[in-house]
Parts: sequence; C-alpha cells; structure tokens
Amino acid sequence: MTVKQFAETVGIPVERLQEQLAEAGMPTKGPEDPITDHEKTQLLGYLRRSRGQTPEPQRITLKRKTTSEIRLAGAQGRGKTVTVEVRKKRTYVKRAPVSEDAVAETAEGSTAQVAEAVEIPQVEAPPVLNEAVEVPPAAASAPEDGTTPALAAGPADTSSEADVPGLAPEVTPPGEIDSRARETQQKTRGDTSRPAGASRRGPEHGRPAMAPSQPEPAGKRGDGRKKGGGGQVERRDRNERGLEVTRRGGRRKGGRSESAPARHQFEKPSQPVVREVQIPETITVGELAQRMAVKAPEVIKTLMGMGVMATINQVIDQETASLLVDEMGHVPKILKESALEEELVSEGEAHQAEAVARAPVVTVMGHVDHGKTTLLDYIRRTKVADREAGGITQHIGAYHVGTPRGMITFLDTPGHAAFTSMRARGARSTDIVILVVAADDGVMPQTIEAIQHARAAGVPIVVAVNKIDKAGADLERIKNELVQHEVVPEEWGGDTMFVPVSAKQGTNMDALLEAVLLQAEVMELTAVAEGRAAGVVIESSLEKGRGSVATVLVQKGTLERGDVLLCGQEWGRVRAMFDESGRPVTKAGPSIPVQILGLSGTPNAGDEFIALTDERKAREIALYRQGKFRDVRLAKQATTKLEDVFNRLEEGNLQQVNLIVKADVQGSVEALSDALLALSNEEVKVNVVARGLGGITESDVNLAVASSAIIIAFNVRADAAARRLIGESGTDVRYYSVIYQAIEEVKNAITGLMAPKVKEEVVGIAEVRDVFRSSKMGAVAGCLVVEGMVRRHCPIRVLRNNVVVFEGELESLRRFKDDVNEVRSGTECGIAVRNYNDVQPGDQIEVYQRVEVPV
Ligand code: GDP
Ligand code: MG
Repeated sequence: MTVKQFAETVGIPVERLQEQLAEAGMPTKGPEDPITDHEKTQLLGYLRRSRGQTPEPQRITLKRKTTSEIRLAGAQGRGKTVTVEVRKKRTYVKRAPVSEDAVAETAEGSTAQVAEAVEIPQVEAPPVLNEAVEVPPAAASAPEDGTTPALAAGPADTSSEADVPGLAPEVTPPGEIDSRARETQQKTRGDTSRPAGASRRGPEHGRPAMAPSQPEPAGKRGDGRKKGGGGQVERRDRNERGLEVTRRGGRRKGGRSESAPARHQFEKPSQPVVREVQIPETITVGELAQRMAVKAPEVIKTLMGMGVMATINQVIDQETASLLVDEMGHVPKILKESALEEELVSEGEAHQAEAVARAPVVTVMGHVDHGKTTLLDYIRRTKVADREAGGITQHIGAYHVGTPRGMITFLDTPGHAAFTSMRARGARSTDIVILVVAADDGVMPQTIEAIQHARAAGVPIVVAVNKIDKAGADLERIKNELVQHEVVPEEWGGDTMFVPVSAKQGTNMDALLEAVLLQAEVMELTAVAEGRAAGVVIESSLEKGRGSVATVLVQKGTLERGDVLLCGQEWGRVRAMFDESGRPVTKAGPSIPVQILGLSGTPNAGDEFIALTDERKAREIALYRQGKFRDVRLAKQATTKLEDVFNRLEEGNLQQVNLIVKADVQGSVEALSDALLALSNEEVKVNVVARGLGGITESDVNLAVASSAIIIAFNVRADAAARRLIGESGTDVRYYSVIYQAIEEVKNAITGLMAPKVKEEVVGIAEVRDVFRSSKMGAVAGCLVVEGMVRRHCPIRVLRNNVVVFEGELESLRRFKDDVNEVRSGTECGIAVRNYNDVQPGDQIEVYQRVEVPV
C-alpha cells in the first residue's frame, strides 16, 4: 500500500498524511512510496501520544442576535411583556487534524479515537452540553450539584498531557447558549441534578466509535479568555467552568437574581426542544431540516444569515451543517467513519500470521443461454459433497467443491452485472472467470462484455467452450472469434486455457476444473487463515422465520459462530452458520462461502464484512453507515471527471484515461474508439475499457465506477436505472452527436485545454404513448412528460431504446386543442416533430438546450 492509497483509505489529504508521518519521526515519503504496517502502527502510536500539537487553529466567529418575548406574570396579576435581546458572539475554534479529545481519550483509550484524530479537522463540543443531551437518565451516575471544580472537570485533569496548549478548544467554557440549552434539556427531563462535565461516559453510553467531535462554542462569558492559547489559561478556564457550573447549579436552586436563569422561571410561550442532530460527512439542506424538525425555508434563511446560499436539495459539508445546527439551537453530533481503525484492525492481524494457500474463487460469465446455469448446476450436483448427509443442496449463492487436485469456490450468481456491481462497491471477490461460449453460437455481445469486465478487473479467463455435443459445434471457430477480442488460446501462443465441454452431459468437466486449478496455481493465491474474519457479501435476503439470511465469502481469517460482524450497513452476532448443503457449521476459513443468520438487516452484495470484538462498536458504525455516508464514499472513491483529467495527469495521479464508449451503430463504436485510442501519447495512455452498442445500462455505469472511467456516449442515452446510478456515483458521462467533438474534447482534456464553451442540458423528456395522424401535421405523438418540461422552441431528439433516431425541432406542442409554449412533468400533450413522421409509441422525445459554460 502506498502513502497515497493509505491517505485515501483514511480519508485525509496525502499532504496531511505526509506531514503526520514526518511529525511522527519517519523519513519523508512521496505519495507513491509504500507504507508498511509497522509504519502505520508507529503513526498510530504517535497519534495516540500526541495531543493536539496543533498549529494556530482557525477561528470562525459567528454573531447572533436573538430576540424573544417573555410574558411575566406580575405579582399584581397583570401581564407584562418584556423583550429580551441577546447578542452573542461565539468563536469556533477549528482545529488541525491531529488533535484528540483528551478527555474522552483518557477515559477510554480506544483506537477509535485515533481514527478521529487523523480524520477530523473539526471542532469540539463542550462536554457539558454533550453530556446533558446524550446521556440517558439511567446512566446519570453523576455527583451531586456541589461537585468541586476539580471533580467536575473530570478525567482531563488527571491526564498528564492536559497542559498541552493544543488542548485549548476542548476546555474552553461553554457559552450562554449552551447553558441555556442544557438547562432546557434538563428541565425537559426533569433532571436538574447533574452537573456539567461529570460522568463523561457511562458504560452503555452510545458514543459512536467514529467519535463525533463537535463544534465548541467558546463562551463569551470569559471576556477575552476565548483566545485560549496557553495551557495556563486553559487550566483556569476549565476550573472556572467547574465553578461556573457549581454556581449555576446553586442558582437554580436558590437565587434568581440574574436574568439568564430567571428566564426559565417563567412560562415561555413555547418550549424550544433541543435535538441532537446527527451530521454525516455531507447532508442536504432538506434532510438537515428534517432532522432538526424545522421547516426547510427556516434552515435556508439561517444559512443565508451565515452567508451561505443554498437550496433545499443542496448538499452542504459537515462543518457548515454543524455550525448551522448549533446556530439553530440544536446539538450537532458529527459522525465519522473509523476507516483507520478498521484498516488497523484488519491489517494488524494480517502481518501476524503466515499466509497460506487458499482455494480460487470463480465466477461464471457468458452470453445468455450459452449454458452458465447448466454448468454451475452440473458441478454443484456432482461435486458438492452432500450425498452422504442426504442433504438437499441449497442455493446459497456460492458453493465450494473438492477435487483431487484441490478445492474451488464457485460464485453461483452468474452474469457480469453481479460481478461488476460488486466490483463497483470496491469488493474484489473473484479470482478467475470461466467464460462460457456456446460452440454452436459463437462470440455474442454479452461474451464481449464479459471479456471487457473481466479484463477491467484484471481477472484471468478460462474459456469453457460449451455444448460440444451439439451438431453445429465448432471449436476452431470459437477460438478464431475470441482471438479477435484478444483472448488467445495457449496453443496459439496466448495465455488462455480453452476447454471444450458439454455442461449438459458432463463431458470434460473435470478437465475444466483442472484448468481452473492450474490457473490458480500460477496465481499463487494465499490468505491468512487465523484471526478475525473479513470478507464479502455474496447475496442476502429476508426469510420468514429466519430473519436476515446472508451468504458471505470469507476472504481471510476464520469466521466462527458467535462472532460479531460489521457488514456494510448491518451488524450482528452470527447466530447460526450453514454450508451450501444446509449443514450447520461452526467455522469457515478463507475462500469458504457460508450462509449466516443474525444480522440486523440485509446487506448488499459486494458489501464487505469484518469481525469485531466490540459489539457496540459494530452497531455504532453500522448505524452511522446507514446515513448518507455510503453514497458519498462511492462518489468520492471512484469518479474521474474529464475536466480533472489534466490536473491529475500533472500531479502524476493518472497515467491513463479510462473510457467506456457506447454508440448507436457499430461503425461509430469502432471509429470513435480507434480515434480516441490514437490520442495516447508518451505521457498518457487512453484506454477504452469497454465499448458497445446501444444505450447506457447500469452495468456500464458500474464498470465505469469500478474502473474510474468516463463514459463517452455517442447518440445514445442512459436508461432510468443507469441514470440513477450515474447520479449517485457522480460518474462523468459525456453525450455527443458529432464524433469530431468527442475526440476534440478528450484531446483537450489530456492537453489541459479543456474549455467547454457550450454545453447541452436536458430540459425534459416526454414519453410517446400513442401516435395518430393529422392531415395538417402528419404524425402527432400523444405524450406524457416524464421529466422536466417540454418547451416549444427548444431543439429535440427522438430516442428509441435510448438511441438517438432523429434530431430536430418541434412542429407543434399542444395541450388539448391549444397551442402552448411549455408542458410540465406529469402532464399529457400532443407533439408533432418537424420533418419526422416515424415517431412510435415507446419513443422518448428529449428536449434540450445549449447553455454557455463560463470558462
Ligand atoms: P444460461 O443462460 O447461460 O444460464 O444458459 P442455461 O444454462 O440456462 O442453458 C441454456 C440452454 O442450453 C438450456 O436449454 C440448456 O439445457 C442448454 N445447454 C446448456 N449446456 C448445454 C450443453 O452442453 N449441450 C447442450 N446440448 N445443451 C446445453
Ligand atoms: Mg442462467
């Protein structure tokens, strides 16, 4: 693993990681230099020890003015309204990545904090507020109100590093807002006894392992103290916080001389509810509003007040979101993925034990009806050792078979869609692809697609030339056809084994298995067989009476019944485990698929799982992941934008540009691919990962995600499922209708001349429901606008099966008998296309416009 990859895994900029490595006393490293496990451990140790040797923290100061009215029930029984204006100035201290929540750290000493330390350029919340909101009443083993300052300050005071200046942010006193919030909260619960800072973490208390660190409002109370640069000052602050708290506590009981507490002595018109709002790495404004239970316009208004213009669907970052939540009087709770922790957990064990040989994992791919299912069924039927047990072989999505030469694991989910969607999720589950080609049918489109997908994944192919029992079978023809796709048989000097088989009759099946094992031998597949298990989900479902049933493939370590798993967004303890014959098993080592019961839900195929010791941690991370996080990660990890190509080339982060070419006719596919490939030069290689006819499918997008490719679409469009995935993953799809333009743009991207001046934007899509003839206008299409709107004067394209069949403009646009200028989504209309009378039901009419893009 290189420094760069590690930085990506951990989710911090490479430069930052380099700095941290240097700070930890390791020799300077470049982004491409390898980083060893030992170095990671060293870094971990350093991060644990170092407490906030932060450079000058950044500050963001927000001012707030709030006005509220309080009705005082006067002694004379006459109501009196007082307007209270509170001006607040709060300083948020933004800390550099290396810093830790010393208080929590001392108390817990968990590795989770390290993840936090590396990852979070965040601000800390006052433990006070945090506590009041988070701890369930049951966990309140808090001292009584009269706690001494030292006690109240808690573990931090006993920490030897407590004097490090960088600690400053955590211990600055809470602002008035926070005390108010806390008081409100306490009032709500009828719990006024707990002093701030006490009982930082109850044992059951659900502080997520990914350790939310939160914005800390440094109080204005301390006039000037908020500067908080030195340890001395901090100490005083902390003590004073304790004092303050004590004092406040006393106030609550006795005197009501000051205005702040006094406010609570009277009935306010409405009680503000302080919510704890979980904030993932990114969140839309709408979602945030929902989590705070406020109306979106309120949120937008508040954001505007903070100088951020946003729409309801806009995604805002964690920091802005947390400031906003705070600003609106709620408590932000930052969520973080403990990527580093997981990394260390799994890697830490990897180098302890010796890796041993493991069985190859095989996926069967090929064109429809070429015999994938028959082949898999034959092997399962004849090779899975379930005979003697009298068991019925179950379909669990995978099985392993023993042969005299060794074991092979088959993924029983044929088709490249499954293969590639798993890969798009980052899972590498397959070692070898068996490509099934029917000897009487030859190389077909999905055969080619399978080759492309396997090649993009870097997985070797063993060809099973199937149906050799049939009359028209022609092995030589298959070889010839495959050579044209650079799958060259060994006997012709290539590196691919071809095995003629009949899946139906079982002819030569042993030779096929042997070929697979031979291929595996060359690959020297190994895995650590000891320690905690990690692997990937093959499939999962909910079953009546059994709950969540998932088939997982163990990739390293040993999975045991009773293990606690974190599995994608799910978690749970393995209640029961079965092999492919439905027999209960207690252990499963590398390359062994098992069906497990006990997960909290159904994970996705391709989700990774890891066994953890801490059930609570597994649960917390799973819950956290159920936020928007996954999509974000998917988007982050895998996309390449044409605009960024040059920059990334410059930075040396890219040596080749991966493209997927889809076009309307074969001639265009070839012409475009060849022209694009010819753009390669000494610095950069243009690589066409896949090419094909027809509209963009989900499988294309998955492949693009998996291989960081840009999709070049010539006269074709994405279908609905593909569009959704494009949106989720942020895949760059370029639509063209002139070959020259496509080539120019890619060329410019490579040479850094990228300057798109005019971009096309889809205004709307109408679906043709019915076509009738009009003597005046020819064919008139009765349409339903399914997306956006149709505008009378925009250019249009007619799409059939996501392929452009006509380009032009509208002759007329009608609603009932009236000519109209635009028709919105969900509405029916009549459309006549100028000079085109061949519109058919099922066609789509795409309305677009050209927009200037500022350079
Ligand atoms: P899949 O779509 O790739 O899964 O193909 P299937 O396994 O469903 O097979 C399609 C058809 O081909 C079925 O009718 C099979 O019986 C038949 N078939 C599969 N393998 C052979 C074979 O080796 N010989 C013959 N004659 N037919 C086969
Ligand atoms: Mg099938």
